[in-house]
Amino acid sequence: MSAESRERVVSGEQVVDETERAITSLRPENFRDFVGQKRVVQPLLVALRAAKQRGEPLEHLILAGPPGLGKTTLAQLVRHELGADLTTTSGPALKRAGDLMGILSGLKRGDVLFIDEIHRLDATVEERLYPAMEDFFVDFTLDQGVHARTIPYRLQQFTLVGATTMAGLLSAPLRDRFGLTYRLDFYPPEELQQIVVRSAALLEAPLAEDAALEIARRSRGTPRIVNRLLRRVRDFAQVQGEPLLTVEIADQALTMEGIDSAGLDALDRQLLRVIMDTYEGGPVGIEALAATLNEQQSTLVEVVEPYLLQAGFLARTPTGRRATPKAIEHLGRAPQISDRQSTLEF
Ligand code: ADP
Repeated sequence: MSAESRERVVSGEQVVDETERAITSLRPENFRDFVGQKRVVQPLLVALRAAKQRGEPLEHLILAGPPGLGKTTLAQLVRHELGADLTTTSGPALKRAGDLMGILSGLKRGDVLFIDEIHRLDATVEERLYPAMEDFFVDFTLDQGVHARTIPYRLQQFTLVGATTMAGLLSAPLRDRFGLTYRLDFYPPEELQQIVVRSAALLEAPLAEDAALEIARRSRGTPRIVNRLLRRVRDFAQVQGEPLLTVEIADQALTMEGIDSAGLDALDRQLLRVIMDTYEGGPVGIEALAATLNEQQSTLVEVVEPYLLQAGFLARTPTGRRATPKAIEHLGRAPQISDRQSTLEF
């Protein structure tokens, strides 16, 4: 996994290559196909039905959680359920207040505006969003210098859906303006298995049940990864001339990709090894880790660490990160799997 490929996720650039287009086709198109996340989906459906019954737009909604867990998918399902139009942008893409104004003034009543990586909004752009969210108006500034005037401009009532990998970085005034706030969790293997079985059926790839579970267990709790790994396994089987995706084929393909039995990839292992070998198990600060690994701090914090913490390989203490006994045991025991850059990307 290269620094660039990880950075892509947090930089919000749209990646329109063959893989991404194909992944889009696996995206659930209704809530029935959206697996798991009951703690989010159930209250969200209630809020959606209530808004529809009242004939009002849905309250502003924030979806938090690591990349690939379904935030964009949920935004699209909300749009679908409301029968509304969706406008998609991201925090880093809205560089100037004018960019935001252009989008807001084009929204129709009930439209959904999706802002990915909303925690990366520029402060001046964010401030313009407050009155737009709260009172549905914006101040347009005309002319410059001594002639500058602001004209209030009324907007149509819209629903803002914000997605963030770092809910903790949202400013309090922005957070307070969302009526609905949900956090997506990593998926248990059984749910990822359900997702990969559906994806295999859509791709017309014959997938053995135990192979589905194996791919699910090695997918870092993340639907986007389970779909990517399925493709790698399918490619491998095809090249091997194997018509059926068996558990053996899955294991070989994933091992070749540098994904170990616990689903850790090269960067996961490098991070743990640096803590264990260079910093004697920790504690070590994130700055030192990022410098040693030559990775961006934000990539480690937003993309790499959440799963390692959740899976119990990493502990975060007031003095820094520590490798847990589970990590030490896993890396000590694990066969020396290649740490070359994996092609697994987020
Ligand atoms: P995020 O916006 O959180 O980065 P996405 O919504 O883009 O994640 O999800 C990535 C992919 O994972 C989607 O294209 C979809 O195929 C799949 N996916 C995500 N969540 C689910 C789910 N709950 N059930 C089935 N597939 C899912």
